[in-house]
Amino acid sequence: MKLNELTAHEIRELIRKGEVSSEEVTKSVFERIEKVEKKINSFVTLTKEEALREARSVDEKIRKKKKISPLAGVPIAIKDNMCIDGVLTTCSSKILENFRSPYDATVIKRLKANDLVFIGKTNMDEFAMGSSTENSAFEITHNPWDLEAIPGGSSGGSAATIASDEAILALGSDTGGSIRQPASLCGVVGLKPTYGRVSRYGLIAFASSLDQIGPITKDVRDSALLMNVISGYDERDSTSCNYPVPDYTESLISDVKGVKIGVPKEYFVKGMDEEVEKSVKDAIGLLEKLGAKVEEVFLPHTEYALATYCLIVSTEASTDLAYYDGVGYGYRAQSRNLDEMYQNTREKGFGDEVKRRIMLGTYVFSHYDYYLKAQKVRTLVKEDFDKVFEKCDCLITPTSPTPAFKIGEKMDDPLRMYFPDIFTVPANLAGIPGISIPCGFTKKGLPVGLQILAKPFAEETILRVAYSYEQNTGWHRRRPAICDSQ
Ligand code: GLN
Repeated sequence: MKLNELTAHEIRELIRKGEVSSEEVTKSVFERIEKVEKKINSFVTLTKEEALREARSVDEKIRKKKKISPLAGVPIAIKDNMCIDGVLTTCSSKILENFRSPYDATVIKRLKANDLVFIGKTNMDEFAMGSSTENSAFEITHNPWDLEAIPGGSSGGSAATIASDEAILALGSDTGGSIRQPASLCGVVGLKPTYGRVSRYGLIAFASSLDQIGPITKDVRDSALLMNVISGYDERDSTSCNYPVPDYTESLISDVKGVKIGVPKEYFVKGMDEEVEKSVKDAIGLLEKLGAKVEEVFLPHTEYALATYCLIVSTEASTDLAYYDGVGYGYRAQSRNLDEMYQNTREKGFGDEVKRRIMLGTYVFSHYDYYLKAQKVRTLVKEDFDKVFEKCDCLITPTSPTPAFKIGEKMDDPLRMYFPDIFTVPANLAGIPGISIPCGFTKKGLPVGLQILAKPFAEETILRVAYSYEQNTGWHRRRPAICDSQ
């Protein structure tokens, strides 16, 4: 096995024992990128020189027997909506094409303090709006399992880079499913933490009451290790929670005896793919065999979640994106006067999906009743979860109703593009944590993801159930054929 194919915890052991250096691991990652990146397009920016420099400085620390953190020297890819000091941060948008961040996001600061090695910024739907990574202003990312299919979105670059072994770890962001859905479609692990668990300072906002940063990894243990680094209170983020951070690796117990799992009836809908449904039901059967107690539960307001999400997300986006006007940041269109400059900059700088949402959001905000009603329904969705979590430890559902679809298939129908999020959006509305882990493959060889949800700050329950399932199956070890053919 090549170094780039290993997990972070495997690499950590080798580095700790002195059997490999961070520089060797980083080089193997870049060799892989050189081989497959032309086919996948995971990255919008690569920072090879800086990465090798960082890797060598970690190796130096190890040589000098300095104390290092568990993930020191491990290469990581960052979604391009998180600020790294001095590095391009584009949100895959023309409007930020030349924007170099003058500061580090809090998650980046934490990763730096733990000596992780940044290899580059990953492609995404523009401003994280989308479910397929086709809305990037720069390139379309391809699914490593089928190069003609989308990788999911909006963190499609981060999920594809993990699935194709171009990186060891990655960060994504999830506003309505953008960590979990691409993780599911690319056959990797994606965790959206509780809202407020991970600081959003330095994450370019899409919809501030829903956005959350989280890990995209090859297995559940890596997800726990990365959570240990990025979680915790940050006084720079007023929505960050001052709540103790456990050692998440202690939740990695392969035992679900007595765990109460709810299976929401509303998450098995007409129109969903039969193979997805079967894989998820088989997974639930396996957990039951392993000792979990499974029961059907009801979340009656689920059917309103997507419409509610569309209204809230667009309204927040219309204000969060208001300051891209050609003055403070990035792109500025040549114009004769100030008004024209604002107008032309926004017209030429933003892509179609972003403009659609800004227009919808501005409209909703000017009819305040719509927004207010959406907020009330949001509370009902949350109360559904509160009620089932009185008797269940977690919920199990499919992550996405279908496997990866073909590039271009939904681009002419923006409403259909929301459909892949029907099972992920409710967790963002309620602020609860959720993970997607691989739970099978379709006959055509496309990955299927299983979603586990729990109450706020119960990431430990999620990790325990996910780990137990993973230890009793081998889906996460499968690699796309692109690895063999290269
Ligand atoms: N696909 C959803 C949307 O376009 C979710 C995006 C996200 O989570 N960033 O709104």
